[in-house]
Amino acid sequence: MSIFKLPAWVIKDIDKIRRDFLWKGPNLGSKEVRLIAWSKITRLRDMGGWGILNLQTFNNALLGKWWWKLTCNPNSNWAKIINANYSISDTVGVLSHTPPRNKSFFWAGVTSTLSPFRSCITKSIRNGSSTSLWSDRWHDGLRLKDCWPDLFNDCTAPWITIRQFTQYLNNPELLFPTSTPNMLSALLENIPDCSQTQDDVHTWTLDKSGTITIKSFYKFLIDGGTRSSLYLLSWKNHCPSKITLFCWLAGEDKILTLSNLFKKGYNFQNSTDTCVLCHNASENLQHLFIDCEFSKRIWALFSQILEANSLPQTIPSLWTIWIPSLAP
Ligand SMILES: [Zn+2]
Repeated sequence: MSIFKLPAWVIKDIDKIRRDFLWKGPNLGSKEVRLIAWSKITRLRDMGGWGILNLQTFNNALLGKWWWKLTCNPNSNWAKIINANYSISDTVGVLSHTPPRNKSFFWAGVTSTLSPFRSCITKSIRNGSSTSLWSDRWHDGLRLKDCWPDLFNDCTAPWITIRQFTQYLNNPELLFPTSTPNMLSALLENIPDCSQTQDDVHTWTLDKSGTITIKSFYKFLIDGGTRSSLYLLSWKNHCPSKITLFCWLAGEDKILTLSNLFKKGYNFQNSTDTCVLCHNASENLQHLFIDCEFSKRIWALFSQILEANSLPQTIPSLWTIWIPSLAP
């Protein structure tokens, strides 16, 4: 997985085996009830999922490490071979690489991760010779082509390095045929000093070490690493894992209440979805855990023991308001 991009059909077949095992257990002939979508299950726990590995995303994260190796060791022999074989420009470096048309199976997989990889890199300028003026994130973590899109569109050398650009500081009109001096002044003021002899420094922005980690890239590839507000309450606790998992499913309204069983067509023993405890309402998540008279008695008992000021009102507020309000 760290060398080749797995074909979609391979991932699909492996995921089918994993899904069947998850919902059916070792008895693969049994009928399963799939409580929640696989895409949700394979999200990270601190992003609202169950944390089961997403093979495709993990595969991409592993392949992304090739770019880091090429970026940090451009003069190693193996990097030179790859650069020559896949037509990577050694003027600006791998981050400005344009994939050739006839890609090998290996390179097709690696190049598919270049765009997100670029988003996770910033550069500190030393001699400016390996940093693209417009496309690398060296200006407060931003790309100049995002800051000055009109100037970028006017520039006749979109892949120019910062070092090359410094040669035009006294006559920038050679690169910008239609831009006025006023339009160029802000850009020229932000061009850094490139007099140092050292190479530019690359920093991985997703980890405080500044070096790529598969975990951080994997998280980024899943919706940019967006975290769920339920993270600390759902998984970081001292409950048995079965209980935590049940709470997570309840938070997603995916447990087998009579109401959910009805929706799935599995309610073969009851003619209605009326709550079997109070016989007063439909047994959905809100009723079973919050609104039912039996549940309220249990919450009242716990509230008394825990010295809470109120009873929980909804399942989401149970995690975000009621539990945090308890005295430590
Ligand atoms: Zn009830």
